[in-house]
Amino acid sequence: MTASQVYFTDVRAPVDQPERWYQPKLSAVNKLGRLVLKSGILDNISKGDQVAIKTHFGVHGTTKPLRPVFIRKVVQMVKDKGGKPFVTETTGLGMTKERSFAVSKIETAEENGYTSQTLSAPIIIADGLQGFDGVEVQVEGLQLKKVYVARHIAEADKVISLAHFKGHIDSGFGGALKSIGVGCIAKPSKYDVHIREPPTVNPERCTKCGACIDICPVDAIKDWKIDPTKCVRCQGCAEVCKDAISLNWVSSQELCERLTDCAKAVIDCVGRENFRYVNFLLDITPHCDCCPYSDNPIVPDLGILASDDILAIDKASVDMVNQAPTLPNSMAKCDEDKFHAIFEWTHSKYQLEAAEKLGLGSMKYEVIKVE
Ligand code: SF4
Ligand code: SF4
Repeated sequence: MTASQVYFTDVRAPVDQPERWYQPKLSAVNKLGRLVLKSGILDNISKGDQVAIKTHFGVHGTTKPLRPVFIRKVVQMVKDKGGKPFVTETTGLGMTKERSFAVSKIETAEENGYTSQTLSAPIIIADGLQGFDGVEVQVEGLQLKKVYVARHIAEADKVISLAHFKGHIDSGFGGALKSIGVGCIAKPSKYDVHIREPPTVNPERCTKCGACIDICPVDAIKDWKIDPTKCVRCQGCAEVCKDAISLNWVSSQELCERLTDCAKAVIDCVGRENFRYVNFLLDITPHCDCCPYSDNPIVPDLGILASDDILAIDKASVDMVNQAPTLPNSMAKCDEDKFHAIFEWTHSKYQLEAAEKLGLGSMKYEVIKVE
């Protein structure tokens, strides 16, 4: 297996002489600019290309998602190439939280500092108002055979993932694979990533309160039973039912395999040559940006990585985190897999090994430093 190239810039600005304090080139934003140029990740953009810049806006309460200024920098560079960038995300699983709908998602994005003004590009939620707008794609996955790719991702000419690299309570870590495999699919496929079958009602516990019927977007519940052929797998009924609706959640390894199946479907749909990835190893929190809080980082800020290989960039990111010193006053524990040490039911290798099996990229990489 040949080694893929992963470009890296650190974000240190070690200035120790007073007369040398003014050095804009040391800005992490300017370093990102040089990283993007040197790595050539925008070289495939043609004039007029619709370029989806996929990121994560966090939710109400998240305080350490990716800073908007980094996204703005990439937006400007895409425009310089003649591309038409839009910044995008998809709705979250469920039907009750602010993240579950496009309008409230955009309102939360504004709250967290992401607007068309700060980003210098429009924000488009890629899977429609309620998250059901997807393009059906067949995939020979490890677990899944059919994936709904978010409509505006499927329609894009190019996709650039700008991922805040951090831990995740179910998948171990969240990087490029998760940015594409969860962040670029419509709600029914998010359900399939997390849960095995459509929900069922336990008649002995059902109080016939009707809350599930009220929230179901497709009238799939009749006579206190769920019709699995009508259910579009939104999770809404289970969110509002206190006791009678149970879900069959997948294990961490299955979840990692399923999200990687989805990443393959998204990449197959748009074309592998049209994807580029940037991982920001900054504010490396133990939890993902879907959490309504941001704990202290577990390791120091490490830098920014860029590649055209979705597996190599995530493998390099995991390795860098595992080789970094742990920070005090954080959830970090010393271990060869720092994320496994925090969430012992998961392991970083699950996503990486699934991506290797699916042929999404290379576990071998060569780091090329950019000053
Ligand atoms: S929400 Fe739960 S308890 Fe209420 S009707 Fe539906 S299944 Fe029964
Ligand atoms: S029955 Fe299916 S479509 Fe209806 S609310 Fe439950 S999960 Fe959603």
